[in-house]
Amino acid sequence: MYDCAIIGGGIAGLQAALQLGRYMHSVVVIDNHAGRSTKAKKYGNVLGWPEGISGPELRERGRDQAREVGVEFIEDKAVSAAKSKDKSFSITCEGGQVVQAKRLLISTGITDRIPPEIDGLRQVLGSAVYVCPDCDGYEIKGKKAVVLGTGNAGAAMACVLQYWSDQITYINHEPEEYVVSKHWETKCKENGVTIIKSRISSVHQVDSERLSGIELGDGEIVEAEKGFIAFGGSKAESDIAAQLGVERLENGHIPVDGRTKETNVKYVWAAGDVAAHSQLLTVAIGDGAQAAIWIHKSLQE
Ligand SMILES: Cc1cc2nc3c(=O)[nH]c(=O)nc-3n(C[C@H](O)[C@H](O)[C@H](O)COP(=O)(O)OP(=O)(O)OC[C@H]3O[C@@H](n4cnc5c(N)ncnc54)[C@H](O)[C@@H]3O)c2cc1C
Repeated sequence: MYDCAIIGGGIAGLQAALQLGRYMHSVVVIDNHAGRSTKAKKYGNVLGWPEGISGPELRERGRDQAREVGVEFIEDKAVSAAKSKDKSFSITCEGGQVVQAKRLLISTGITDRIPPEIDGLRQVLGSAVYVCPDCDGYEIKGKKAVVLGTGNAGAAMACVLQYWSDQITYINHEPEEYVVSKHWETKCKENGVTIIKSRISSVHQVDSERLSGIELGDGEIVEAEKGFIAFGGSKAESDIAAQLGVERLENGHIPVDGRTKETNVKYVWAAGDVAAHSQLLTVAIGDGAQAAIWIHKSLQE
């Protein structure tokens, strides 16, 4: 029986694991290596890392640090969770392994919808094409930028980005399925955003940090140096929490106590992007540490 099991070994989960390891608790992290931090090529808004650091590198460093304080890792997907009569948790992994723990932290993050058919997009995610204006709006300051998106989600992103640049073009990749409403068409016009309705074929880069342009389905190139995606339909990975009766918002995020990060279910915590409402690396780190402090307090009861 572990003191704590952590489902999701991304940024929030790793920080919590490190903190709990330093409290000398027995900790296991179950992770299937598929989250947002595996995709971000460069985090640029982190104190002490002016040159940025990639998600995979930060994760690798975090895992090494956590292993140093005794944290164990299971490389698998957790598929079910149940509470036992003695109030401990039983977590089953896809490969059949079952883990028992006294406390549970859910830090499973979000899965972004990224159309797989757009060539070259994944290679520049987080280094030339971004997802979060609060994280990376600054990167497009005064530059020609393009929003690769769908429907109103893309239009709303384009209008937000106007704060940093007045050279924004929005390409609605799925114009038949996701129509831009009159409201957002007007907003785009007011903000000087040009809307193009066309499938996107590929993303062309000068190097990992600079685009040369976006190729449309008909071969036309839309010139841009930087980009953002906003395809809508991102999924908060909270299904496993729901199995335990954890409350979820309509959008799938988990509300937690602001101070302790505990959910409505006793001994279940949530941290990072899956919780309401963070979605930034540094906030995920803070959430993870905060949850760990209160998990430690609870283990001392
Ligand atoms: C392209 C990109 C660029 C970004 N750039 C920035 C930036 O510059 N600055 C910034 O502050 N933020 C940025 N972000 C956001 C940042 O990456 C997230 O806020 C951060 O990763 C959240 O950490 P997390 O631990 O909540 O989730 P994640 O890092 O997504 O980790 C969740 C982990 O849980 C695992 N998991 C999920 N379900 C299960 C399961 N059932 N079983 C086992 N494991 C599971 C996943 O595989 C994953 O490893 C960016 C995001 C993206 C996608």
